[in-house]
Formats: sequence, C-alpha cells, structure tokens
Amino acid sequence: MSKKRAITVAKGDGIGPEIMDSTLKILQAAGAEIDPEFIDIGEKVYLSGQSSGIEDDAWESLRRTKVFLKAPITTPQGGGYKSLNVTIRKSLGLYANVRPNISYDPFVKTKHPDMDLVIIRENEEDLYAGIEHQQTPEVVQCLKLITRPGSEKIIRYAFEYARKNNRKKVTCFSKDNIMKLTDGLFHKVFNEIASEYPDIETEHWIIDIGIAKIADTPQDFDVIVMPNLYGDIASDVAAQITGSVGLAGSANIGDQCAMFEAIHGSAPDIAGKGIANPSGLINGAIMMLVHIGQPEVAGKIHNAWLKTLEDGIYTGDIAKGAKSVNTKEFTEAVIDRL
Ligand code: NAD
Repeated sequence: MSKKRAITVAKGDGIGPEIMDSTLKILQAAGAEIDPEFIDIGEKVYLSGQSSGIEDDAWESLRRTKVFLKAPITTPQGGGYKSLNVTIRKSLGLYANVRPNISYDPFVKTKHPDMDLVIIRENEEDLYAGIEHQQTPEVVQCLKLITRPGSEKIIRYAFEYARKNNRKKVTCFSKDNIMKLTDGLFHKVFNEIASEYPDIETEHWIIDIGIAKIADTPQDFDVIVMPNLYGDIASDVAAQITGSVGLAGSANIGDQCAMFEAIHGSAPDIAGKGIANPSGLINGAIMMLVHIGQPEVAGKIHNAWLKTLEDGIYTGDIAKGAKSVNTKEFTEAVIDRL
C-alpha cells in the first residue's frame, strides 16, 4: 500500500489554477508524500448547471480524505449563488480559521518589521451564517448568530493554540458596546475562558480601534480571536501590511476535517497573466503538511521559500514597480532552493 496521504485538491477560479500548479510543483519537488484527488468547484461547476457550485463526488472525496488544499474561488457580489466557501466551512464543521501574519523584513518591504500575529477567526457563525431575508421590496434583513457553544469552542481553541505555540497573549475583538447580546456573549465567554489560562495575558478591544491598532502597531499583538466577519476583514488588513495580501496562508480546522488555502481571493484583475504570487497558497500547503504529519517537508519548503525572498526574487505584488518575476519563475526559484 502507498504511504502517500490522499488529499483533495481544487484549483478554483481566477488565479487559482496558476497558484495551485505552482504549489503542487513545489510540494512534489520537495518530496511531499501526498496523493492529490482533484475536484472541480466554483464558477465552472456553477455554470455547468449545478447551482451549489460543487458536485456530490467532490463531497465524497472531501469526507473521505478529510484534508482539502483549496485555491480561491469567485463568489458573485450583491447577488448570484451562495458563497461556496461558507458552505464548505459549515458542511465540514471547520470552526477555526487560523491566519498567521508575519513580517519578512528586510526582505519584504513593510512599515512593520516586528509584526508576528495570528488571527483566529470563528468560521461558522455570525453574519456569515447566511440568514438573510427580503422582508418587503424595500427592506432586507440579515440575522447575526452567536452561540455559547460556538464561542466557547473558538475561544478555547485560541488559548490552546497560544499555549501550544508558546504565545504570550490572547486578545479578543468584539463590538459589545453596540451588539450587547451577540458580541456581549462572545466577550463574556472570552473572560470566562481566559480565567482558566492564568499563564496567558489577555485583553479586549472594540473592533474599530482593534483593527486601527493592527494597522498602526501590529507588533503589540500576539494571538487575536474574534467573530467571523471581523476576522475576515482584520486578516486582510494584517496580511496587506506585511507587504502583500498574496503572502498569507490559512488553515480552516474542524474536529474531523481541515482545509488549507491562501487568505486572498481569485484576483480576477490579474487572472491568466501568469504574474500572481503563489506564496499564500504555498504557506497554506506548509500548514497542511504539518497537519498531516510531514513537518520535515514543510520545513524544507518554508526555508526554500524564505531563501527565495532573501535572494530578492519577488512577484510584482511584492516588488511594487521594481524588477519582478512571474509565477513560473518564482516557482522555479523556490524549487532550486529546496
Ligand atoms: P482578492 O484577494 O482576489 O484581490 C484583491 C487584490 O489583491 C487584487 O488587486 C488582486 O490582484 C490582489 N491579489 C490577491 N491575491 C494576489 C496574489 N496571490 N498575487 C498578486 N496579487 C494578488 O479580493 P477581491 O478582488 O475582493 O475578490 C475577488 C474574488 O475572490 C471575489 O469573487 C471574492 O468573493 C473571492 N474571494 C475568495 C476567497 C476564497 O476563495 N477563499 C477569499 C476572498 C475572496
């Protein structure tokens, strides 16, 4: 029997296929023991008449392999089909979205050289639970869902993550001055669980000033836990100020399954040009390799990727007008440094 670990892989939409091909090439060259099963999801499936954007066979693969490496998919704005990202996270019970954001100073230009924070975003509830109604032609309503079990689960996950990764502080962001019941519950549960971890420093900020502080003094943060929507927004801000939204990877963790991806979207403005930065997905894949018990290969890829940046080899989003390489050249540079 092959010792290769079966994983489900989706190439996604927009720049998805370009960055997935790059990532898989690097995984293969590094000797990752994986056996990818490819599924189609997103726009292509939707346009073929499957309104959910995913086929039954794809669910079967996901439920069997329990590990999903996913490129970004396009979700229409202001109408159209429901977000498949939200459906997948909810259907597979991926309650914790872990998004590390680190500065690679001086190799990637940033105003925040000492930044090293991890956003832990609740991934199943909040306004993303998808309870939206048309009440009258002129009134629409969206309901925010926060539960005690959901809040306990994600907040405990954040504290356990901090302990396991030798992190010193866990911060909570909420808007409990306005949303007294929903965000109030999240903050209350945070205080309760914090009391079980006297070894870890804790603090709470209202989300507005919290995100402003990330943008200004991100080095003051360590682990930050927050409800779903705030986490989605805060993590794009955090990734962008490290140098590019194209750098950060993310893990979506559940009790049974896990999904790994870049934090950014399908970038339709640069799709097909071969210039996308594959780093976010590479970093997602590195987290996947650790998750499936291949930390040595993960370390090897991470070092080669860091060396590529150290050698000044940048895609356009990092080079910002200076000399840059395309996706293929960046991929080859990482492989050369394995
Ligand atoms: P986006 O992250 O796709 O792009 C924002 C900007 O960042 C664009 O200018 C883009 O060119 C640039 N960018 C993003 N990734 C890059 C990379 N790897 N290399 C270089 N530049 C990069 O955000 P958007 O434009 O708001 O969303 C586009 C689509 O992606 C939407 O349909 C949205 O719903 C979807 N989306 C999907 C996911 C996901 O699948 N996980 C996440 C976010 C957004």
